[in-house]
Amino acid sequence: MSGNLYERLAAGFPADRTRPCFLLSDGSQVSYGELEASVARVAGRLVAEGVRPGDRVALQAEKSVAGVVIYLATLKAGAVYLPLNGAYTAAEVDYFLRDAEPAVYITDDLGYVAAAAEATPLAAPVARTPADLASIIYTSGTTGRSKGAMLSHGNLAANAEALHEAWGFTPDDVLLHALPIFHVHGLFVALHCAFLSGCPMVWLPKFSDAEVLTGLSRATVMMGVPTFYTRLLANPGFTRDTADGVRLFISGSAPLLPSTFDEFEARTGQRILERYGMSEAVIITSNPLEGERIAGSVGYPLPGVELRIGGGEETGVIEIRGPSVAGGYWRNPEKTAEEFTPDGFFRTGDVGRRDPDGRVWISGRAKDLIISGGYNVYPKEVELVLDELPGVTESAVVGVPHPDFGEGVVAVVIGQGEEAAVIAAARGRLAAYKAPKRVVFVDELPRNAMGKVQKNLLRERYAGLFSGS
Ligand code: AMP
Repeated sequence: MSGNLYERLAAGFPADRTRPCFLLSDGSQVSYGELEASVARVAGRLVAEGVRPGDRVALQAEKSVAGVVIYLATLKAGAVYLPLNGAYTAAEVDYFLRDAEPAVYITDDLGYVAAAAEATPLAAPVARTPADLASIIYTSGTTGRSKGAMLSHGNLAANAEALHEAWGFTPDDVLLHALPIFHVHGLFVALHCAFLSGCPMVWLPKFSDAEVLTGLSRATVMMGVPTFYTRLLANPGFTRDTADGVRLFISGSAPLLPSTFDEFEARTGQRILERYGMSEAVIITSNPLEGERIAGSVGYPLPGVELRIGGGEETGVIEIRGPSVAGGYWRNPEKTAEEFTPDGFFRTGDVGRRDPDGRVWISGRAKDLIISGGYNVYPKEVELVLDELPGVTESAVVGVPHPDFGEGVVAVVIGQGEEAAVIAAARGRLAAYKAPKRVVFVDELPRNAMGKVQKNLLRERYAGLFSGS
């Protein structure tokens, strides 16, 4: 076997290729054999069009089976896959295309796959070494230009194998897949676990609680972002019975609120398994399959991952080294040099701490740290206090310019209440400099497609709160 990731994934496909890979909402299905044949034809078309090993193939389209075929065909042809979020504007796409210079840019995925019916199938995967590039994932950077994380065949294979093992996947599993496939979560984490075990996926174009409720009756594992779980819990149709056949609910891509974890356990009797990852390393830590899953903790580093806290304090920026960590940023040696330590650890930009037994807790992004009157305020610490208050469903704490303090702490809160009462309650539980100076009530928080609260937008929105501008 060469180091080509497709070869590794296909080795997990079921011996009986008539077994289903995709179970579609309309009742039809796509078998592993059909997927494999389609991948061979599309890989053949890519090669016939002149795509060479190492060339980039970009796809921007709605989620579909055709998109998965193009992803796998790109790997098989030895090329580098570049997924682009369908929500990107023309100007954003223009930047990615100029930066990555793909040999092929596909927007009509169904058309591309259909037209490959005439192509000569590519029989064997193009040989690749583990160090060869498999994919470029542009980070959803909120400051400056987005950077392309360079993930190799070896990075992705190592992570896929670690997760397959850690989460106990077997051919008897059925994975509910409602995530987008332009992001590492739906593209690598979910698909690779299914492929390595040769199990089927209940394939949903996007999250809809009605469809997920139906899908869960066939599924044994669900992967989601925290908002999937809050939306399920908001639906009275989601009961213990609905969740009964599911052995594992996994959450990641954004912090899972302890209240969601608790409510989920009360409703279903099951504990959500939270894990932590990022585009630059896929999955880094996970709560255990067997053993205690704790609300608010992201668990232990996966086997092979070295994790340490930089800066010499108990709480600091999480640094990691291991087989899945990207080699650097595409055509950006300066950023690569900045984000790696001299001894080869990647600075994640997430602030966290470790228990003596190695368990990891994340307290937010380093760039979200607030410095008010010279004191460091970790937004997560304040959010946890606010989230406990009656009437508060969820909160997001940010720092905005303040004439006296440099930055002032602002709490944006989903819920009902009085600003003065929330501030007073927070002051009763936190040092005065950490308590919010202003509280704004909203109906919802701005989130990106992966459910992450966009704090940069909150900082912009409330930038003038203390300056009166
Ligand atoms: P992305 O590269 O878009 O996948 O975003 C990665 C970032 O998402 C990480 O650096 C974390 O800030 C955040 N993240 C992912 N999973 C978790 C989690 N379980 N808890 C807290 N933050 C998370």
